[in-house]
Amino acid sequence: MKTLSTLMLTNSYSDLPASLGTQVTPQPLDTPFLVHFNPLVAEKLELASITALDPSFIDIFSGNATLAGLSPLAMKYCGHQFGQYNPDLGDGRGLLLGEVLTSEGKKWDLHLKGSGKTPYSRMGDGRAVLRSSIREYLASAAMEGLGIATTHALAIIGSQTPVVREKIETAATLIRVAESHLRFGHFEYLFYTNQYAELQQLADYVIEHHFPELTTNDSPYAALFEQICQRTATMIAAWQAVGFAHGVMNTDNMSILGLTFDYGPFGFIDDYEPSYICNHSDYSGRYAFDQQPSIALWNLSALGYALTPLLDKTEIDHGLEHYQDTLQQQYSHNMRQKLGLTIADESDTGLFSELFQLLKQHHVDYTLFFRTLSYITIDDLLHSDHLFNTLFQCTSALKTWLTRYQQRLLLEPNDTQRLTTMLHHNPKYILRNYLAQQAIEEAEQGDYQLIDQLITVLSHPFDEHKGAEALAQLPPNWGKHLEISCSS
Ligand code: AMP
Ligand code: MG
Ligand code: MG
Repeated sequence: MKTLSTLMLTNSYSDLPASLGTQVTPQPLDTPFLVHFNPLVAEKLELASITALDPSFIDIFSGNATLAGLSPLAMKYCGHQFGQYNPDLGDGRGLLLGEVLTSEGKKWDLHLKGSGKTPYSRMGDGRAVLRSSIREYLASAAMEGLGIATTHALAIIGSQTPVVREKIETAATLIRVAESHLRFGHFEYLFYTNQYAELQQLADYVIEHHFPELTTNDSPYAALFEQICQRTATMIAAWQAVGFAHGVMNTDNMSILGLTFDYGPFGFIDDYEPSYICNHSDYSGRYAFDQQPSIALWNLSALGYALTPLLDKTEIDHGLEHYQDTLQQQYSHNMRQKLGLTIADESDTGLFSELFQLLKQHHVDYTLFFRTLSYITIDDLLHSDHLFNTLFQCTSALKTWLTRYQQRLLLEPNDTQRLTTMLHHNPKYILRNYLAQQAIEEAEQGDYQLIDQLITVLSHPFDEHKGAEALAQLPPNWGKHLEISCSS
């Protein structure tokens, strides 16, 4: 296990084309303090948990001190925001600090979000508020707990530095950890500025560091694009099955490794509503929950276009088809697991669409419905409607569906196994907006207990947690349709 004094940082990104970044020194925060530290993320880095108690930890990650090997870099990228190309993007309030190498040779980027102005800050102040840092911190742990590819958050550091948003808030930093911080927008930047040699260099870097098995491929760039399509499909299928809406699927927020990236006004669905829009600045619903699969395809097409110096049209089309096939397969696999189905039957499409209609029509809580169903044996299904009393005002339509489901389960080999599978794929705990909001309000008063409790349950959301029933309930009325500010 490493501590700060034995932590050696490398920076393979210095191999990247120089136009992809600018060295920047973080701007210190006023009176920084530790808000929370996630030992599960520290474990990935082989970093001892006592590191959080080291006073220099706070100094380094609040921008007040430096560490050997640290070479903070603001990355340049561009991207399509709400469908419009924006050439002026980049790390406007975050810096890549360096990479931690594990004993197995795995590389983790350390990124400091909220570290002050950079050449890419435009009109922004380079800061992140405590509120949005807590949301990203909790969401990263929640997605990891759900088994969905994501960036991670090692710690949050709070401060007294004032920041102006809708009101005056305080600045924080978040230490983001990811295999890579490369985005679709990095390729778009090099393409739209005609840096084709650099574009190829970036693709080679990605292959070398993240897809080494493609090095010997006859068409390595086509294979790379296919891999990115595949990973994106897997991520989107997981979002759709769990009820996660990202909210800002701009191409600069799309990870080339298919990681859920850049948590802003995201939301997990409470009542099932496919047209759910979590971002209240998204007036047209471009990034509504049910649009995510087609938006990811749009984003992949934008990436494919940016790769035209390396790919021909057939190769791009092939990648995009691969996205659609994988998405369909993976989504149907995920949904079958949620219902505990191990074999494919032609009636399943109907079973699913009837269920979705039912959930939508009766405004049923998506998470609690599947979790409730995961405890009921096949024999009890038709006498179980009272278990759904808090979810349905009238259960007659539900009974019809349960009858159909029971019939379908007769084809399945093992009911006990079905329940086990379902309990492993239908979370008891999700990061509901109102829970994040409560954790934020308490943290703003200096109380981090709810953050701590949420990290515990969300890291293992399929398990039962004694004393945490309150975190697995329906949202209270005030917490159902919270408008999440986009300012962060
Ligand atoms: P986002 O909406 O978080 O994906 O950010 C879009 C762009 O705005 C990125 O280039 C960010 O680096 C930049 N940005 C967001 N917030 C700030 C801020 N407070 N200060 C400077 N740049 C920012
Ligand atoms: Mg972003
Ligand atoms: Mg953001």
